[in-house]
Amino acid sequence: MAERTNTRITLKSRPHGMPEDENYDIQQVAVEKPGDNEMLLKTLWLSLDPYMRGRMNDAKSYAKPLDIGEVITAGVVSQVVESNAADYPVGTIVTGMYGWQSYAIGKPDDYRLFKVDPDLAPISTAVGVTGMPGQTAYFGLLRVGKPVAGETVVVSAASGAVGGVVGQIAKIEGCRAVGIAGGKKKCDYVVDELGFDVCVDYKDPDFPQLLAAACPDGIDVYFENVGGDVLTAVAPLLNKGSRVPVCGFISAYNSTDPQNIETPEQVFAKLEHPPESRFFIVTEWIDEFEASAKTLGTWIQEGKLKYRETLVEGIENAPSAFRMLFTGDNFGKLMVKVGDPE
Ligand code: NDP
Repeated sequence: MAERTNTRITLKSRPHGMPEDENYDIQQVAVEKPGDNEMLLKTLWLSLDPYMRGRMNDAKSYAKPLDIGEVITAGVVSQVVESNAADYPVGTIVTGMYGWQSYAIGKPDDYRLFKVDPDLAPISTAVGVTGMPGQTAYFGLLRVGKPVAGETVVVSAASGAVGGVVGQIAKIEGCRAVGIAGGKKKCDYVVDELGFDVCVDYKDPDFPQLLAAACPDGIDVYFENVGGDVLTAVAPLLNKGSRVPVCGFISAYNSTDPQNIETPEQVFAKLEHPPESRFFIVTEWIDEFEASAKTLGTWIQEGKLKYRETLVEGIENAPSAFRMLFTGDNFGKLMVKVGDPE
C-alpha cells in the first residue's frame, strides 16, 4: 500500500477580524502508526462551525484557546482504516473531535468518540443534522426554550445547520415557527422546504417592522444565534414569561472591539419583563447524544426533518470555506469533503 500522508492545518497566527489564509499553516506529515488499543482514522468529512473562530483568539472562554501550531479544532466523520482496537474493526465509521487533518489516531476511551450508524442517515449528517448542530437545536430548544404547542418560536440564522433544525422541531412540537435569515433565497427555502410558517429577511431596511408583523402574538421563545441588530429587533417583541436559549452570537465573532458588544443580558435588562434566558453549551447533554442522534435520524427517515449541506472539496480549501460562515455564503450545514471511504 502507498505511504499515507497526513495533511493538517494548524494555527500560524491569531486572526484580527476575519481569519485570513496567512493565519494558517498547511503541513504534510507522516501518518502515525496506531499503538495498542488504538486505531488509525481517515477523515471523510470535516465540519466547519462558527465556534472555531473563538478558539483562535487568546481569550478565556468555556473552552481552552488553540495554541499557535495546534491543529484547528473540528468535529469529523472518519473511517477506521487500521485497527488494534477490538471494538473498532477496519471499516467502522466514527465521529469525533480530530480537527483539520486528513488522518488521526483514535482511542476507544475518548468520551467524544461515537460510532456512526450508516443505516440511520447519510454519514455526513453525523457532523450535521444528527450530530452536534442538530443536537444543539434539539437540546437548546427543548431543554432551555421549553416550547409549548401554540407558542411562537423565533430563530435567527434560520437556514443554517442549527437554526433550520430549531424551526422544524418547533413545528413538530406544535408551535408557530418564525425564521430570520439573510436574503430572499434563504427565506424562501426556510418556508418552502423546511416548513416554517414565515421567514423574515434581516437585511431588509424595514426588518423590525416586518418581524413585528410576522409575530402578531409576540414571541414566546427566541433561539439566539446571531446577536447584534437582530437581537435588538427581537427584544421588544418578547412576551412576559418568554424564554431565550442563548446559543451563539455570530455577528460578533470577528469583532475587533469585543468589549463594546452589547450582550443579551444587557439588552434584556432594559425590558419591563426580561425573558428567562441562559447561555448553553450542547455538551451539557453529551450523555444523551446517542439517543438524540437516533431521534433526529428517525425524523429524517420519516420526512419530518429536512436539511441542506454546502460541501467543499479538499482539506486545503478549509480556510477559505470557513469564511463562508461569516459572510453568509454557506447555505445549510457547511462541511469539507476530505477523503473517500476505502
Ligand atoms: P450556520 O450554518 O447558521 O451558518 C452561519 C450563518 O450565520 C450564516 O450562514 C449567516 O446566515 C449567519 N450570519 C453570519 N454573520 C451574521 C451576521 N453578522 N448577522 C446575522 N447573521 C449572520 O451556523 P451554525 O448553525 O453552525 O451556528 C449557528 C449559531 O449556533 C452560531 O452562533 C454558533 O456559534 C452557535 N452554536 C452554538 C453551540 C452551543 O453549544 N452553544 C453549538 C453549535 C453552534 P445568513 O445568510 O442568514 O445571514
